[in-house]
Amino acid sequence: MDKIRYLSELTDVARLYPFDMGNLEAVTTRFPFMANTYCLDLIDWSDPEDPIRRLVIPSMEEIDNGWGDMDASCESHYQVVPGLQHKYHDTAVMLVTDSCFGYCRYCFRKRLFTKYRENEILKDISSAMNYIKDHSEINNVLVSGGDPLMLRTTSLRKVFSALRQIEHVDIIRVGTNAAAFNPFRIIDDLELPAMIGEFSTSEKRIYFMLHFSHINEVTPAAVKAVNILLESGAILCNQTPLLRGVNDDPRLLAELFKKLASIGVAPYYVFQVRPTVGNRSYALPLVEAYQIFEESQKYVAGTAKRARFVMSHSSGKIEVIGLDDSHIYLRYHRSPDPEENGTLIVARRNDDGHWLEDFQIVSTGSLAQTSGSYLPYD
Ligand code: SF4
Repeated sequence: MDKIRYLSELTDVARLYPFDMGNLEAVTTRFPFMANTYCLDLIDWSDPEDPIRRLVIPSMEEIDNGWGDMDASCESHYQVVPGLQHKYHDTAVMLVTDSCFGYCRYCFRKRLFTKYRENEILKDISSAMNYIKDHSEINNVLVSGGDPLMLRTTSLRKVFSALRQIEHVDIIRVGTNAAAFNPFRIIDDLELPAMIGEFSTSEKRIYFMLHFSHINEVTPAAVKAVNILLESGAILCNQTPLLRGVNDDPRLLAELFKKLASIGVAPYYVFQVRPTVGNRSYALPLVEAYQIFEESQKYVAGTAKRARFVMSHSSGKIEVIGLDDSHIYLRYHRSPDPEENGTLIVARRNDDGHWLEDFQIVSTGSLAQTSGSYLPYD
């Protein structure tokens, strides 16, 4: 395969320029474009609705001033030192780079790539490590960005090595889109599997949180990259938002889950799209998204049925667990206050609502309480 090139100008996308450009450059002055020749080659250019095209090629729909926030989950509120967030008791998140293999148009961290960027990328690894050392409750660290595999393996090694020197850190997670957007980052780097094997031990594993959104991304090269990660000793999971025009079809989502399970990647989280400036056209109402997710679960066996449908809200990670004609049932899967984990929220059903604020909460309490006369619905 030809050497993979990175493109940051739409005019360099030969299949787009000049006929399909419209006014898209105006979009990219606001939300930058970035893709590479591998992921662009996944696009069926004869199909204007192609799902991979929707993932990486800008659209005029992004110019929408009445929607979303640049930091929809208030991540900056949980930043404890530059580049390190501590929201959940036992979990820390490091943002080690603001580079990606391609900019997903719906990205909830697009603030890192734009002029709105704040001081949120790790500059000084020692202050982050000192914080983690001082917080013995942190037993797992998510290395994120941007995409950590945009770093050279020598730089990634420094991060893993430093984390492995902290006794109370058991699990290192790496959030990466590499297997989907540029599997050759994994295939061509002979140092990477050895480095993963060194730090992913039988007692303390490294998890890779992969990011396949559509089955068209699961190419033979992607499968090869997945296999390299598995053979190096990593555990693999997948997370994706439920995206309008990309994977908002239960059968298609089921096919993705089945394929992932088959190649050794456990479906993990399916996210409600976070209302981020410019991504309205990718977002489904919460009820519709949950129904699609639930429907998809009918078509898969247990190995592919391990995902949870969640909303990464500023107040915690909220799982959608049920729906009836009048109400939607939610549960704090993760809360900044560990005592609140598992708290049930019953809210009035709103088929147009996207985010927690769009729902009228009727009651909150523990699941155990619901077996009695707890639910004062109205
Ligand atoms: S890979 Fe992740 S961080 Fe990078 S653009 Fe896509 S969603 Fe955003």
